[in-house]
Amino acid sequence: MTWMRVWIGLIGLLLALPAAAHSHARATYLGNEGVLVTRGEVKVVFDAFYADGLGTYLVPSRQVVEGLLEGRAPYDGVDAVFVSHVHADHFAPASMLKFLRTKPEVSLYAPAQVVDALREHAGDAEVPGNLHPLDLKPGEERRFQQGGLEILAVPVPHAGGKRMEHIQNVLFRVTLDDQTTVMHLGDAGADEKVFKPLYETFDDRPTDAAFVPYWFFGQKAGRAIVQRIGAGQTVGIHVPREAVGQGEAWRERYEADLFVDPGEGRDLGPRSGPAEGSEARREASSGGE
Ligand SMILES: [Zn+2]
Ligand SMILES: [Zn+2]
Repeated sequence: MTWMRVWIGLIGLLLALPAAAHSHARATYLGNEGVLVTRGEVKVVFDAFYADGLGTYLVPSRQVVEGLLEGRAPYDGVDAVFVSHVHADHFAPASMLKFLRTKPEVSLYAPAQVVDALREHAGDAEVPGNLHPLDLKPGEERRFQQGGLEILAVPVPHAGGKRMEHIQNVLFRVTLDDQTTVMHLGDAGADEKVFKPLYETFDDRPTDAAFVPYWFFGQKAGRAIVQRIGAGQTVGIHVPREAVGQGEAWRERYEADLFVDPGEGRDLGPRSGPAEGSEARREASSGGE
């Protein structure tokens, strides 16, 4: 009797698992601008291979680092890795190389500066992985198709103006399983002149979730850009580690959703328009500016 129940339970579980895995997409915060996005069997990682918080930002926990290196759930089966730019709080050649050596089948999409740094670090050794170095001039774009992924890459200058002009920063828009589209802005500056020509490109499909540097929410131009991109959900990233444990206060202060505590996640809705919460937030935050 008991065994029977166990068997029925097991069978039920086995039947339910794949359905649950496919039913929604989810973004998980790994630290600074590190985000894991999964939809069914498709997984991508943004800006998660670094080891330096510059004294201000979180670095990925040991659990995340080991999970990625050892392919432990939920960090197993990563299909593609994206790096927005070469800065040490987003990318470390040693961490990236270690990962690519364990997973040479993975694709890496990154600015040429990142791939150059990897090759330099590897010296005479080969850099494994399907490398896609991007050397994009303003106004250019690249598109890729890979398995369950559709990728758009456009260059967006790093925040900080002239001082950061030499840094190649790439905005990635990634569609998983032809269902869920996410956008990661790296350390973009909130410059309307830069974004204006991009909207037409972005409008070819709805964005379900945009991960934008939190400073966008503190600037009128940044809020206007977020609103115009019109993602179903917008979540601020690059929040300093001093915010850990105080997400509510920080979200209130910036009148925006923010990733604050590593490991926290968001279910990503289908692409049928903005989620209720983000719509309300947008209305609430458009006053007084
Ligand atoms: Zn940077
Ligand atoms: Zn940064």
